[in-house]
Order: sequence, then C-alpha cells, then structure tokens
Amino acid sequence: MIEIRPIPAFDDNYIWLLTRPGCSGCAVVDPGDEDPVIERLRAEGLQLETILITHKHGDHVGGVRGLKAAWPRAAVYGPAGEPIRTLEHRLRDGDRIGLDGLGVTFDVLDVPGHTEGHIAYYGDGALFCGDTLFAAGCGRVFSGTFEQLSDSLIRIGRLPADTRVYCAHEYTLANLGFAAWVEPDSPALAARSERDAASRDRGEPTVPSLLGDELATNPFMRTDQADVVAAAAGWAGQPLNDRAAVFRALRTWKDSDYD
Ligand SMILES: [Zn+2]
Repeated sequence: MIEIRPIPAFDDNYIWLLTRPGCSGCAVVDPGDEDPVIERLRAEGLQLETILITHKHGDHVGGVRGLKAAWPRAAVYGPAGEPIRTLEHRLRDGDRIGLDGLGVTFDVLDVPGHTEGHIAYYGDGALFCGDTLFAAGCGRVFSGTFEQLSDSLIRIGRLPADTRVYCAHEYTLANLGFAAWVEPDSPALAARSERDAASRDRGEPTVPSLLGDELATNPFMRTDQADVVAAAAGWAGQPLNDRAAVFRALRTWKDSDYD
C-alpha cells in the first residue's frame, strides 16, 4: 500500500506525494512549484521517479522543469490532449501506467471540462483528479465545456463509493458554503460542514474526501436529485431538462452570484 501525503504549495494547492514505506523512490502529482517538493524530498531522503500531471495550468506544471533539473531521470506523464512541453509520456483514456518502484498501477481517465484535455489517475482506491472534482465542489469551466465537465463528474461518480478523492486545492469550506445555498435542509451536508470546519480549525486538510460523501453532499455530483434540480431551476428562472443544464446553472450561479 502506498502512502499519499500533501505538500502544500502557493495559497491553497496540494501537490500529492506518493511513497512506499522502506523505499526511497517516490512520485508527485501536479507539482506547480518545485521548491516545496525539493525541500520535502531532500528532508526525507527520497528520489523522484515519476511526475504525474492532470492538466496544463501553471499551478500544476510550473515545477516540472526544476524537478527534472534536480532528478533528471524522473519520468513525466500527462495528458496527450494538452500543450504541455515538459511531458515525456502522453496519456489517453484507457491507458494504464505502472509505477514499479511504488508497486501501484493507475488507470487513466479522460475528464475534460475544466480544461479540454484534463485527465485523472485512478488506482489503489485513490483518484487524482486535479481541478475536475473538488471536495464539495468542482473546477471552473475554462477551456472545456459545461457539458464535458458535467459528463466527467458523472463518470467519476460511477467509481466505487469508497474511492479516496485527491483534488488539487483546499477549497472545501467555501464550496460547502455554496452547497448549503443549494441544499439548505440537507443533514448530510450540515454534518460534513461541521466535520470539515473542525479539520481546518486543527490545521488539517479536508482532502482526500470519500467519493460517497461527494455523491451525498456535493451539488455538482447531484444534478439528478430533485432538490438540486429545483434550486438550480429557481436560480436560472426556467426549467432545466437534463443534467448538463442543471450543471451549467449551478456552475454559473457559483461563479456569478455567490462569491
Ligand atoms: Zn486548473
């Protein structure tokens, strides 16, 4: 079993560090900045073997060059459908990569929407989903489409409910605030808000979350639920006839009115 720990970066990013007890090889996911990674790996005597990238944004790829300079043999994997110059291995949906030193295999899932070629890595009960699904929220639509992101979240929702979701940002409490606008009477949401607020009070991450909790409380994963559909339609001022339309209304609502 691998160990997965966060390396905080910038204001609210998590760079995920994958290690195996007794092994010096390691992998990182979405290193937007090399400095905190180099500092952690040196402190723990780790050698970087693998870099996994989910999408092209600078706060996910900005540290790749610096890490390659420090560990030239580290292999860089990322999405085939995005213009990332530092990639060495371009991955597509259905690809499977084995990280031999860590003894783990990841399946590659296409999850476009936040960006046009965003991918996720799924293995060992863990999902590294970058800026697609956040704890209690989801990424904004930048260079993909609302329909793509809606479909990607539905696809992620079909993974096992005990999947641990490793997103790339600590946005959870703000996301829960919006979720409570959408489903003000949800006991599951109230319980989660209390639990996650307590985690932050202790200075602990709220990530990873459990996919089952996302399905129960994250409005963007619940676009087929009557209360969520009604709230989204109420905000939009018109009936919403499919999950993509509900998703678009929720995402636009959060982008515009809420913040
Ligand atoms: Zn992004």
